[in-house]
Amino acid sequence: MGNDTIIRFDKVTKRYEDVVVLDKVSFEIERGKFYTLLGPSGCGKTTILRLIAGFMEPTEGSIMWDDKVINHVPANERQVNTVFQDYALFPHLNVFENVAFGLRIKKLKNNVIKEKVQDALKFVNLEGYEDREIHEMSGGQRQRVAIARAIVNEPRIILLDEPLSALDLKLRTDMQYELRELQRRLGITFIFVTHDQEEALAMSDEIFVLNKGRIEQSGTPTDIYDEPINRFVADFIGESNIVRGRMIQDYQVEFAEKVFECVDGGLQPNEPVEIVIRPEDLEITMPDQGKLQVNVDTQLFRGVHYEICCYDDAGNEWLVHSTKKVTVGSRIGLDFEPAAIHVMRFGESEEEFDKRLEAYTEDGGERE
Ligand code: ADP
Ligand code: MG
Repeated sequence: MGNDTIIRFDKVTKRYEDVVVLDKVSFEIERGKFYTLLGPSGCGKTTILRLIAGFMEPTEGSIMWDDKVINHVPANERQVNTVFQDYALFPHLNVFENVAFGLRIKKLKNNVIKEKVQDALKFVNLEGYEDREIHEMSGGQRQRVAIARAIVNEPRIILLDEPLSALDLKLRTDMQYELRELQRRLGITFIFVTHDQEEALAMSDEIFVLNKGRIEQSGTPTDIYDEPINRFVADFIGESNIVRGRMIQDYQVEFAEKVFECVDGGLQPNEPVEIVIRPEDLEITMPDQGKLQVNVDTQLFRGVHYEICCYDDAGNEWLVHSTKKVTVGSRIGLDFEPAAIHVMRFGESEEEFDKRLEAYTEDGGERE
């Protein structure tokens, strides 16, 4: 466990009767970073937050805080505060009393409470709002009250469960900046939950991509965007072209019935793979100058770029983002750098992949 590590999940499983909600999840959380749990609804994001906060216990595995197992440590003994999706503010209390709530439970002296609450409100730019009622505050201001209520307890980690998903797009973008800036100034670790991949990419130091109770991939936004580990991540994290292929040898991959130079090695010769090329990495050329030749099927203007859908002669669909306009029905070339080809092991799960690879090796290397 590194020096900066606060929390470590070691093969944490959560089951409800027979239903596995988290399946041997392992990760580390370090101090001072902005983490995002990203994944579709029902994949286990809130469950992870509840386990960290101490609202529930794992079925198997251990949760470590610094170097101690905290599986059974109650919520009020953990240095964690949660900002809920609906903020869970007390409507009958004013802004000051909402923020002061946790400190009153701890029975701090009035003058200490006053000082701490005012500091917290100042931090979120709500100085002078002490006496306002919650219903007098806008959506963005309520979120700041909820954050002030969390930071006033001086936690080491703040958990935020989809706090922006109820806001309209404009306010949401503003709050993304504000939250990220606040985290930097505070230097406290944030663990933020969203099902919105753009939000995750824009805000995080590190993203955990979750699917069906498992972490599919973890890494920086650029790691995950540029080097998705499998089809699920590639699909989920942005619009992608995903095409089946075969590794010829290191740095050589075949797809669309052609062989291309790439930057990936370390796979088996002849290993079946899937390749990802982002739509913005495809450049439109004259047919004979492209690495691929395709027929243009549809074209949509998207404001900044055209979204062009084409088919190659092997029947693969290619989505292209380009500022160039093309003619529907025409034949064009597509050019791309070797580094734009991202090679992924074939299939969704490792077991599935191993089975395929076994079958594939047994029948003498014939493709299915
Ligand atoms: P997310 O926050 O990613 O949408 P959750 O962590 O809330 O997902 O839930 C993960 C899965 O656990 C869901 O399929 C949900 O239905 C199930 N689940 C959550 N709470 C319970 C419970 N108390 N009993 C049974 N299943 C539950
Ligand atoms: Mg949830």
